[in-house]
This record gives sequence, C-alpha cells and structure tokens, in this order.
Amino acid sequence: MKKKAKIAVLSTAGALLAGNAVHAALYRPKKVKSPVLPDEKVNLDRYIETLCSAIRCKTVSNTDESLVEWKEFDKLHRLFEETYPMLHKTLEKRIIGKAGIIYVWKGSDPSLKPIALIAHQDVVPVSKDTVSDWTYPPFEGKLAQGYIWGRGSTDMKNHLVGILESVETLLEDGFVPKRTVLICLGYNEEVTNSEASSAPMISKALEEEGIQLESLLDEGGAILDLNVPHAIKHKLVGGVGVAEKGYADFEISLEAKGGHSSTPPKHSAVGELSKAIVDLEKHQFRSHITKEVKSIVDTAARTTTFPVRLIGCNIKPLLPVLKPILTQIAPVASVLRTTTAVTMTHGSPQANVLPQKAAATVNFRIMPGDTIYDVEKHIRRVIRNKKINVRLLGGNEPSAISPTNTPTMEAISQVCCGIYDMSAPTPFIVMGATDAFHYQNLTEQIYRFSPFVMPPEILMLAHGTDERIAVDSLEKAIVFFKRYIRMMAGEKNEG
Ligand SMILES: [Zn+2]
Repeated sequence: MKKKAKIAVLSTAGALLAGNAVHAALYRPKKVKSPVLPDEKVNLDRYIETLCSAIRCKTVSNTDESLVEWKEFDKLHRLFEETYPMLHKTLEKRIIGKAGIIYVWKGSDPSLKPIALIAHQDVVPVSKDTVSDWTYPPFEGKLAQGYIWGRGSTDMKNHLVGILESVETLLEDGFVPKRTVLICLGYNEEVTNSEASSAPMISKALEEEGIQLESLLDEGGAILDLNVPHAIKHKLVGGVGVAEKGYADFEISLEAKGGHSSTPPKHSAVGELSKAIVDLEKHQFRSHITKEVKSIVDTAARTTTFPVRLIGCNIKPLLPVLKPILTQIAPVASVLRTTTAVTMTHGSPQANVLPQKAAATVNFRIMPGDTIYDVEKHIRRVIRNKKINVRLLGGNEPSAISPTNTPTMEAISQVCCGIYDMSAPTPFIVMGATDAFHYQNLTEQIYRFSPFVMPPEILMLAHGTDERIAVDSLEKAIVFFKRYIRMMAGEKNEG
C-alpha cells in the first residue's frame, strides 16, 4: 500500500474510533424533566411498625378456600383500622367477597374518571421443611440488620401498607383530591386459576356501577439497583410492566394397547410420547426483539461505565444479529418468545405393566401478540406423530399492551426522576400474572410498578426463604405514592 493510502486508511479508522468514543461519552441515561415539588412529610416509624405487624398476619391464600385462615385477614383489617383512623373516617370502605376491600376517596370533580391503586393482601405459604432455613421466622415481622424480614415484605405488603400510609399522611396534610382515588385490595392473587379469584369480583363490582378508570397502578415492576463489577456501579434502572404474558396448560397424550411388559412393542406409549416431547422442545416459538426489549437494553446500556459503553452504545442495532445467542440464555429467551415447559408426565401405574395411556402436561407462557389458539396450532404442527391427542386444560390469553404516551406513564416517570437519580422507567412485559389483568374491562392504561429500590438478589427472594426489604428503601416509596396521587388526582391535574 502506498504511504498516502496507508495514512488515509489509518486516519479514517482513527476518526471512526474517535467518533465512537464521543458517541459513548454522550450515551448517558435519558433524564426526564421533573417539576420541583415540595418535600413530603413521611411517618417512617409508623410505616415500619405497620409493615412488621402486617407480616405477622398470616394471610396465606389457598385454592381450597376452606383451608384459608380468614381470621388472619380480619386481623389485618383491624390493624389498618387502628393505624389509619383518618383514612377510615374519610374514605368509604366496601367489603367484596370473603376479604376484598374497595376504599373510595371521593374527588371534588365527579366528571373526572377515578384512578385506582391496587394490591393483594395474601401471601404464598412457607413450606414446613424450609422454615428452619429462615434467619428470622417468616411470620415474625422482624426488624433487624437494616431489613424488615418476612413473608410478604416484598410481595407485596410493603406496597399495600405503603399506599395506605401515603393516603393517611396526605389526609394529615389536608390534601383533598379533585379526582376520585380507588384503593382495591384482593385476597387470593397468589392462587393462580382460582375459581373464586377476588380481582375479577372487584373489577366487576366497579363495572356494574358504571365506573371506568383513568388508569390503574399495580405491582409487577420495580427499581433495580444494578451493580456489576467493572460494568455498572450502583445505577438505578426502573421498569414499568405495560403488559403480562398469557398462560396455557395443554395435555398431549397417546392411547396404546398396554399389556405385559415382558412382551413389549418396539416403542411403548411413553416412548412414542417422548418423541413428541422432543419435537416440542426442539421447535421453540419464534423470538422477537420487541420495542420493550430494545428499550430495556438501551436504558441499562446507558448506565454502564465508559469502557463498556464503547460497545454498549452500538448494542441496539446489533440486537437482531445477537438474537440466536440471546435465545440460548433461558431467562433472556423467556423475554423474547412464548415459552414451552413440559412439566408433568404420566405412564403406566406399575413397573411391569405397559401403559394404555401416556400423557404429558405442557405449560406455555404466551407473549402478547400470540394467542392460546396459536399455541395449539404450533403444537399440532411441530409434533410429527399424528396419533398424539392435544387438549387444552386451561389458560389466560396475554394482556393487552398499555399505551406509554399517557399522563399516568408521564407521572410515574416524573415522580421517579424527581426522587431518584435515574432515567425514566422503561416499559417491559411482565413474565408472571398479576391482579391487574382482571381490570382490563375498566381501563387500557394499566401499569405495574412498585416504587421500591432493590438489588436484583433481594427482589429474587420474593416467594423464597429470607424474603426481606431494606428499611432505607421505604421512605422514598411513600414520597412516590404521595406525589403520584397529588399529580394524578390533585388540584393541578385538570384531567
Ligand atoms: Zn404479588
């Protein structure tokens, strides 16, 4: 290469590298302008005490309602009445079903649609053989080592008590809502597919009164405190769940002659069914890099350290190329597609008997955009053995995707950015199911977000051993709820 050409190549490469370095330097979290709001009064001691007491109420749900200890729900209700007198004097309280509550805080302008804040009072059980693994007993509601420990401390008595605490404090401040505020508390969210699910009972009761909501806030998203050595130094990234995946259980089965196991055919019914299972696992649903995935990756990449950002600033356009690698990582794949999980199998009842029927249950978590019907079509297409029977056992379609250019989403972003050093929370799709799903008859603006800062490892303890919440995440959560209610229902909001 001639000297001149060499210089030209080197200077072009240099310019590109310098350009990328400038791009990486400017690739920082997108801040949202937040109005300067007055400080909020927070009664942190009362909040801590009430949350500990609420954990001591063993409000464990069960698919069999006769096994639920309803007196524990009564105890929780009494705790609320005793702790929050102004709330109980000002708001109208209705009981729905066995232990559901709707609190109505009437706004001064009945022409405005109400907002709803919802939560569930129930918790998942603690299995007997894991009780001794807990640092403090799961229903002791212990305050120690900077945490409140116990079942429900993050899912979701923190959020539930946080709402009530905020309303009581707003009442003490003399706040009068212009828009009606509804607080809806279910009692069996943790029991999936319960016939007596309380959330649809509550939403139906509201619908029958002709109520339509401006918007609804539930659990499902959080603010993660990310800390990855050399890549991210304690940066906050928030996620607002704008949709949730659907759910379907299918049975795939095969009939056979059966008989004595001493004279088996080449493949028994179990053997043939196994091939169908392999077909299902081999042919996964198509993955999609959705705009929600792009948004999460972009938000997280912007918080990384400069050396990582040199690559991270180019990540968004690279995502489609990286898709084949991403789908090899199970937790990432579940964000990108409808998932297939073979969870149960049945064959013959005894070792020396050939099965007359072999069956497997397959659980699918369905991405918005796919339907239960699409899942059935997929199963029938990928299983090559046409003797296999396919039967839907039950399920829920995925939720609709809530719009993101709404005053509620704007309020969540502004309030978060006014309290925390973070960019606007990013929309994402919730993998599990929430009560919010059952309120789609009342509004299309449904947002799943808990304003508590948590490291991912603490968030993962929900439903597990040593579930706990950091005390220093509590005060700002109250400020969030108070400002959110002021912004959505206060005098400044002209609807
Ligand atoms: Zn929950």
